[in-house]
Amino acid sequence: MEELQTILDDIVTAARAEPDKGQVASYIPQLANIDPDQFGIAVCLAGGELVCAGDADTLFSIQSISKVFTTTIALGKLGDTLWQRVGREPSGDPFNSIIQLEHENGKPRNPFINAGAIAVVDAIMQGRQPKETLAEILAFIRWIANDEAIYIDDKVARSEVLTGDRNAALAHFMASCGRLSNNVDKVLGVYFHHCSVAMSCVQLARAAQFLVSDGVDLSTGARVLSTQRARRINSLMMMCGHYDGSGEFAYRVGLPGKSGVGGGIIAVVPDVASIAVWSPGLDKIGNSRLGTRALETLTRRTGWSVFGR
Ligand code: GLN
Repeated sequence: MEELQTILDDIVTAARAEPDKGQVASYIPQLANIDPDQFGIAVCLAGGELVCAGDADTLFSIQSISKVFTTTIALGKLGDTLWQRVGREPSGDPFNSIIQLEHENGKPRNPFINAGAIAVVDAIMQGRQPKETLAEILAFIRWIANDEAIYIDDKVARSEVLTGDRNAALAHFMASCGRLSNNVDKVLGVYFHHCSVAMSCVQLARAAQFLVSDGVDLSTGARVLSTQRARRINSLMMMCGHYDGSGEFAYRVGLPGKSGVGGGIIAVVPDVASIAVWSPGLDKIGNSRLGTRALETLTRRTGWSVFGR
């Protein structure tokens, strides 16, 4: 294989030269102000070695990438009973779509679409206050990223609360089907705040390490999740991590991955590496345009796709 640093440097050069970077998310006003010309990538190899290029230390809003972490917490807490609340099938619909909920009696298709992530928050809360639940989620992310400085960007969270009508509609619909056990506004508050965690590519690549090595964080030796459940999170990321663009992502990149409308994507090469890439411009589905292209180049040049070289 070529030198990884060379590949990443080439990817950054190509991204900077690309005139069509996609559109930054504008439905969350605080994200509409982000400079689309930023680009970062970080690869954390299974041995712990970190290779990065571009704006790999710049913080951005992780948005739906946080759903991997909340699903991990929920699986750890509830085990397989989680699947009574949320399914594990790709939706084929946009991330904020409401249409399936009515057909399927308020049970979201998977934990990575907005409705599913709201159901996951409800499962994690278990009657506790939003503050306690958020503290638990943040502590978990800090633990797996091995970085106590990670924080929730309150400006982004407020921006989401103020413009969150669609998510409120999803949550209220689920509540009307008897699917939520906690107060709807409290559940939504936790959801908006966990989407608003700010992290860099380096921190995210680090945080995804446990998915590379069967649930164990090799840098610390800590077991984050059982082997079987880590494998299942990866399969969910493969099938559902990019919403109605999941098939396209599997086709082009061939790795379990999870995107967020902040323009970040994490991807996992089992036994080899975790990757985080960030480019704020999105495609029509809401996945990072150049982030996806970067991962496509990376798997082509390294042979890292799980579907073969
Ligand atoms: N917080 C965003 C929302 O609720 C998350 C969406 C995403 O990243 N795809 O709309």
